[in-house]
Amino acid sequence: MKMLLLVVVATTAIFAQSICIDAGHGGSDPGAVGWGLQEKSINLDVSQRLYNLMRQSGWKAYLVRSTDKAVSLSGRTSYANSLGVSRFVSIHCNAFNKSANGTETFAYSKGSSKSFGMRNSVHPKLVRAMRTKDRGTKTANFYVIKNTNMPAILCELAFIDEKNDSAKLGDSYYRQKAAEAIHSGVVSSLAAFDEEINDSSLYMAPKWSPDGSALLLTHPGYNGIAVMQVGDYDLKSISSANAYNAKWISNDEVLCGGKQQQKLLNMATGKSVDTFAGVDMSLASIEDGKLTVAEHVIALDNDVIFNAAVSPDRNYVAYESLKNGISIVNVASGKSVHVGTGNNPAWMPNSKGIVFDHALDNGHEITQSNIYFADISGQKRMNITEGLSLIAQRPSVSPDGQKIAFDAEGSIFIASLNELKIEQVLQVTK
Ligand SMILES: [Zn+2]
Repeated sequence: MKMLLLVVVATTAIFAQSICIDAGHGGSDPGAVGWGLQEKSINLDVSQRLYNLMRQSGWKAYLVRSTDKAVSLSGRTSYANSLGVSRFVSIHCNAFNKSANGTETFAYSKGSSKSFGMRNSVHPKLVRAMRTKDRGTKTANFYVIKNTNMPAILCELAFIDEKNDSAKLGDSYYRQKAAEAIHSGVVSSLAAFDEEINDSSLYMAPKWSPDGSALLLTHPGYNGIAVMQVGDYDLKSISSANAYNAKWISNDEVLCGGKQQQKLLNMATGKSVDTFAGVDMSLASIEDGKLTVAEHVIALDNDVIFNAAVSPDRNYVAYESLKNGISIVNVASGKSVHVGTGNNPAWMPNSKGIVFDHALDNGHEITQSNIYFADISGQKRMNITEGLSLIAQRPSVSPDGQKIAFDAEGSIFIASLNELKIEQVLQVTK
């Protein structure tokens, strides 16, 4: 009988903190508009100011976009989760009826106390900086704060369609003040709320254990992870703080954390150890948006590569980029084939192809998402959850290739996979 209940002791102090900053909208999606301003530009400017401030104070900072480009919601969260950053902040401007005004700061309604702590720390500073009406701290189920696996908030700086608020958004003095307030609020909220188990019954991102007997699951909007025994669907919480980006290393060990700070959780002994080196990074590694595979370096113009997944036979690496979706590189030749739009690639056990999700969104919520299969040539691409009417995301195929697990709107599903056809779809969490 394996002991599955572990407690991870947070040891964040000696590591550099990291943040992913998400400038809302971009490209063909301007967001809200008013008084000659477009939300996407304000969001980007404040995000860049915040980025500079975070770096100046020693944080590792990442921007979802540093130019005026479109990035899907699924791409935004997939990127942040792959970085394993310790905080996520999304920057937006509000709009309503041209007379509503003021500042709001959101946390995911079932988010962690760390998210709430960060929200409560940032919000009053932001209101003071903007000298706007205080509309209060709020909760919402916005996609980017629900589907990120680290404490996350979304700031609505002010109303772009209201005259006085809009004048401030258009003024670089206030945009700098806003960035300084968010920076100060994020940094000062770090110490509080170090450890907590979330009792959320929502789960996402299932990952099969190497022997196929269990699934590793994550709570939306929180670091906490859980393990489900596939035989009886028995569910056990494992860990909370800093347990993001979790992956199986063996049938008894789960590695979690970001690049600099990782923990190896041993489920047999109940112990966790800090580890500094990434596991299995010799074949594929990502630094500053560039992918190194064996001796090949892959970089894309004005684009950022993330989330590299090595095939089981180690002959291919699938990777995502913010603009281009998914590609697969041949390790021997260094040549990539473009698979197309999508996120969260996971390998078929026979290394002949990948499964991934392709989601559509309206800038705020995912409206539709399906699981696709693509072969390693990039030629064959097929929707394998068509007709299920589920917002299916983050697939994982069992080691024997006979089952697929994925999440849809906070629940985990398992189905049998027969010649790339999905059958007997079973919802295994509430
Ligand atoms: Zn917005």
